[in-house]
Amino acid sequence: NGALKIAVPNKGRLKMPALELLGKCQIRVEIAEDERRLWAETSDPQACVVFARAEDIPDIVASGAADCGITGLDLVVEKKANATVLQNLGFGKCRVAIAGPKGSKLAMLSGSRIATKTPNLLATYLKRNKIRAKPVMVKGATELSPMLGISEFICDHVSTGSTLAANALFEIDTVFESEACFVSAPELGAEKKTLVESLASLISGTLAAGGKKYLMMNVDERNLKRLTTSIPSAKSPTVLQLAKKGQFAVHTVVPAQGLAGLIRRLKELGARDILVLGINQVIA
Ligand code: AMP
Repeated sequence: NGALKIAVPNKGRLKMPALELLGKCQIRVEIAEDERRLWAETSDPQACVVFARAEDIPDIVASGAADCGITGLDLVVEKKANATVLQNLGFGKCRVAIAGPKGSKLAMLSGSRIATKTPNLLATYLKRNKIRAKPVMVKGATELSPMLGISEFICDHVSTGSTLAANALFEIDTVFESEACFVSAPELGAEKKTLVESLASLISGTLAAGGKKYLMMNVDERNLKRLTTSIPSAKSPTVLQLAKKGQFAVHTVVPAQGLAGLIRRLKELGARDILVLGINQVIA
């Protein structure tokens, strides 16, 4: 019906953060536990969500079956999908890394077998580093491969490293750094292109707003100058005169980190009635 089709992971670690990000862009989807659901309408009549496996999304978007989508950058590159990566999203961060038993070194990779679920990422790494090793494709728990004698090393996703440690494996080198990304179909009609661009801009605005707060406070005229010269701001704080003579309101955007310390300092500078507000979007 002309609505923007956004592909979103139907399960796994990228599903909820992807839906939360869309929610912050005012594209809200009623969350159902049923992972077999294939699509959903959203709170935005111009957008619907298509649910698919994260690993299938690069091809679904590249083929134009969905106009855009959220998936892992590693999956886009692994699939060599012709989808356009518009931006990284700051969640789903992980690395694809080579690991082996205790005492493993980079020099030992030559002539070895490396079990992996991402043969293309591994092949690119081996070529770039001029290492002749044999990728062994596995589907399930890669970490078991050295123990089962399937391979000497593994190439797998790592985020905290706890799964490797639990299997007595040690990281040797990073093959690929990944995070979730927003991708679009390579060719879009004018209308869809505009909708994808608007969503990309809302996503950028949401990401830029993350970690920022809007502060409003009142101050007496005698403390105004020292407050406005000390207060952090994106450009310059806004100063508004209150109806009551000699009273001013000061508004500013500050990093959320270190907020408690900043509020203490603002009080020392004479600020009163301090309000802290969340920011939805920062559109440059
Ligand atoms: P899932 O659907 O949960 O298997 O997630 C697949 C994608 O999540 C991967 O392709 C990565 O982009 C991302 N990811 C983030 N952290 C990890 C991790 N520790 N292990 C596997 N995938 C991860």
